[in-house]
Amino acid sequence: MAGFRSLARQVRDPRCDLALRRYSLRKCLERFAPYGHRATWDHLCSRAGFGQEDRSPDPARLVAALDELEEARSVWLSYEVEFAKRRKKEKFDGLRRPGSVDDWHRLTWGGFGVAWCDDPGVHPHESLAEVLRRLIAALEREPGSVCPVCDGERLSWKYDLAHEPSSGPVCTECGIVVPRPVLTPEALAESRRGRLLLASA
Ligand SMILES: [Zn+2]
Repeated sequence: MAGFRSLARQVRDPRCDLALRRYSLRKCLERFAPYGHRATWDHLCSRAGFGQEDRSPDPARLVAALDELEEARSVWLSYEVEFAKRRKKEKFDGLRRPGSVDDWHRLTWGGFGVAWCDDPGVHPHESLAEVLRRLIAALEREPGSVCPVCDGERLSWKYDLAHEPSSGPVCTECGIVVPRPVLTPEALAESRRGRLLLASA
């Protein structure tokens, strides 16, 4: 299976058939897609200005979409390197982190679905790198009660998500599943209660 970087080279290769270059960009999303495959594709197409079904998009737009994806990937991978280093040191020092942080990292290692958007048409509008920077900043500070990407206060607990974990707090503004480690236990309980209130209304 081709890795992200060799797929990226194909996307940029002017000698390749345009349909293949587009296909390679889609394959990149199987390796790295912060919102999940479909929502990230929706995002990249609209930001770069080509249709999701356009089989022969303007090559410059295709490459712009790849540039955005690559920038986000390098932001995320350098965070993972730092995280792994820190964990190693903590282990060495005999410190233990609360389970949920490690559990979350195990599920998202490599950056696929770190800001899962269950509805492919609803996702943040900022660049992917900016969204990931905000998410990382939130993971590195004390847990809070709002969405780490858009500061939205309305989080609604959703079930049957198409990605692990299969349930979680979804931001009703920007559409991401908010990673549990960035929320306080109170905020998590609040989003669950909101769901119950909606169901009983
Ligand atoms: Zn949000």
